[in-house]
Amino acid sequence: MTTSLITGGAGFLGSHLCERLLSEGHRVVCVDNLITGRLANIEALQVREDFRFVEHDVSKPFLIDEPLDYVLHFASPASPIDYLELPIQTLKVGSLGTHNALGLALAHGARFLLASTSEVYGDPLIHPQPESYWGNVNPVGPRGVYDEAKRFAEAMAMAYYRVHGLEVRIVRIFNTYGPRMRLKDGRVVPAFVQQALEGKPMTVFGDGSQTRSFCFVSDLVEGIWRLLMSTEKEPVNIGNPQEMTILQFAEAIRDLTDSKSSIAFRPLPEDDPKIRQPDIRKANERLGWQPEVSLEAGLAATVEDFRQRLAAAAEPPTPVS
Ligand code: NAD
Ligand code: UDP
Repeated sequence: MTTSLITGGAGFLGSHLCERLLSEGHRVVCVDNLITGRLANIEALQVREDFRFVEHDVSKPFLIDEPLDYVLHFASPASPIDYLELPIQTLKVGSLGTHNALGLALAHGARFLLASTSEVYGDPLIHPQPESYWGNVNPVGPRGVYDEAKRFAEAMAMAYYRVHGLEVRIVRIFNTYGPRMRLKDGRVVPAFVQQALEGKPMTVFGDGSQTRSFCFVSDLVEGIWRLLMSTEKEPVNIGNPQEMTILQFAEAIRDLTDSKSSIAFRPLPEDDPKIRQPDIRKANERLGWQPEVSLEAGLAATVEDFRQRLAAAAEPPTPVS
């Protein structure tokens, strides 16, 4: 049987990947310390015999007592609010955690896939961003803890490939959204959807002219699966090139939810990238991948998931008879 280990598997993306790997017939070992993830994300998987959850901080060394074919390293705070609150943990999981996960893959002869990010391009001076762009990152600014940790992780993964011949894949993920994002993780999708559903002011940072390009989670998972199965050793961007301003995005969510929320402008966080759009020619040419889910369909599924979770949270507890 093929076995995949995924760090950060109880998080938003990790839990969707666990499901995909299981559906491909893999046994899945999920390692997570739940710092930003939730057991609820993997509750339905915990009953399966081909799924195992290990609670552990991957910045500390760990051994796994069964054969592994793939190691996917997804553990890391990912929301700017989270990594600003957890700067040292973020640097540690990107550096020590990546080193531990690479060591594990090497010891098991497993293929390694790193969840990297569009943040390696920083506040980009080239638009859209191809993989060949080296980026514009402020190493000492507040976002540097995440950006530099991921840049180090990429460098470490390539060193393991060059020195040990380890099979390495690197995905540079652009803003991805969908069901199971933590309600209060502070990223723009959960923030706007919750504010719109509750009729509260939608907090647009800056004047809302900064852009992002949003990818639905099922498209991202398909791209990651194809990359994992490919021979592509260099980093590959996966994201949806449909770009919009954050103000347009707020208005799109307000329309979709029929909300009467106002727009409340708030200060722009330091080093917030002004533009972001993936160049996905490489993923298209080498993996035959392109996103399929429209923003409207993806947001509709996300809003429905948020509605259900907000309603469940508002319900009074069932009385014990
Ligand atoms: P998330 O916060 O929902 O998931 C991260 C998971 O990692 C959580 O379950 C958390 O508990 C776990 N984790 C963090 N530190 C850990 C540690 N030291 N040991 C064990 N587990 C640890 O975030 P997400 O959006 O699912 O992101 C997952 C990965 O994808 C991250 O590496 C992130 O950098 C990357 N990524 C995500 C996006 C996106 O748009 N969602 C974009 C770029 C990159
Ligand atoms: N943003 C916003 N209001 C919020 C949260 C975020 O206007 O309540 C903006 C943020 O400043 C950034 C964009 O939305 O320009 C995307 O933010 P997110 O935290 O989702 O991810 P980022 O792309 O910055 O990592």
